[in-house]
Order: sequence, then structure tokens, then C-alpha cells
Amino acid sequence: MDNCQICGSKIEQGKYKPKLYCSDECRNYIKYKNALEKILLVLKLTKEAKKIIRGDMFRLSNSVGNGTNTIKVKDND
Ligand SMILES: [Zn+2]
Repeated sequence: MDNCQICGSKIEQGKYKPKLYCSDECRNYIKYKNALEKILLVLKLTKEAKKIIRGDMFRLSNSVGNGTNTIKVKDND
């Protein structure tokens, strides 16, 4: 049994390709995080715009774990 690389929950492996993530949410998290990171590196921002984006990042960081629990625990039946 492996753990999801994003949320840490257990993943049941299927027969074929090994799974790194437990759910679409975790797969999407890594996909969008990587995309956002790339964009942040190339954006040319004014001082004011940087402040706004840093504020956005701060709000994002505060939203970690604040939603409903979407971790899907698979039953073994
Ligand atoms: Zn996960």
C-alpha cells in the first residue's frame, strides 16, 4: 500500500500503472500548482501587482484544509 503524494492518504494500487495520487483532486492540485509556478516565474509585474498576487497566495495558503473533507477513503468490499 502506497500513500498519495499530495494528501498522504493510502492508495490501493491497481494492476496496471502505479498510482501516485488518490483522486482527481490530488492530481489536479499538482497539475495546477506546477502550471501556476511556471507562470509566476515569467510574469512581468509592477510592484503593485506583485503585492496583489502575494496577497492572493496568502489567501490560498489560508484555505488549506478549510473546505469540506474531500479525501475519499476506499472501502475494501
Ligand atoms: Zn490524495
